[in-house]
Amino acid sequence: MEQLIVLGTGNAAVTKYYNTCFALAREDRYFLVDTGGGNGILAALDKSGIPVHAIHDIFISHEHCDHLLGVVWMIRMIATAMKKGSYEGNCTIYCHRGLVSVIDTIAKLTIQGKFYRMVGERILLEGVEDREHRKILEYDVEFFDIHSTKAKQYGFTTVLDNGRKLTFLGDEPYNEANRTQVQGCAWLLHEAFCMDGEAAKFSPYEKHHSTVKDACELAERMRIPRLVLWHTEDSHYGERKKLYRAEGQKYYSGELYVPDDLERIEL
Ligand SMILES: [Zn+2]
Repeated sequence: MEQLIVLGTGNAAVTKYYNTCFALAREDRYFLVDTGGGNGILAALDKSGIPVHAIHDIFISHEHCDHLLGVVWMIRMIATAMKKGSYEGNCTIYCHRGLVSVIDTIAKLTIQGKFYRMVGERILLEGVEDREHRKILEYDVEFFDIHSTKAKQYGFTTVLDNGRKLTFLGDEPYNEANRTQVQGCAWLLHEAFCMDGEAAKFSPYEKHHSTVKDACELAERMRIPRLVLWHTEDSHYGERKKLYRAEGQKYYSGELYVPDDLERIEL
């Protein structure tokens, strides 16, 4: 059974959601993608029933604090479990090459020496290049540069056991350079900062983000059957799903998902 476990769905500045991050679950093993901005990752994992010892692969898309800082807590907790003997094997943290020293430095400066020592020993920071492949949960995962204008950022694409292609575009809009990775996908995980109707209020384009309408038009144009939207503002807490879906369905005829934190989606 393959599932997308949504851990957070907010943008950087939210207070009502956790920052956008998720896990791909294959039976009892998990691939954690981004970690949000802090210790909240531990609460999200706990509420989702994902034990730290079942996470052996983590991907960090880019350096921004709403994606990266939770990894300090993951390193801290995984190192603790390793030292207690309750974590088998290694943990690999994948990221683009430029991020390796950033994660290493932040970990070194903020985690006690006895835990930090696990980095390089059993917690491995693995830099990947554009379009490099890695075997993760036995999936063939291709990492790729999303061509961000703000900070170097990678996404990834893979094919699930059920034959469906799944593509994660990080927290910026689709770039034509990634047509190969997005074309033909059955699941597109895409950011949507706010609704089109509120673009004047939230200024998504200044921050190089999309509206619900933009992401839906893209998915319609590229004939993508399932679209997940997240990395949003939080002013419509409790009503976001209804409002965003109402806007999106005007432009998109596929299955539109606007998950709340902690939702599970069957892939
Ligand atoms: Zn972000």
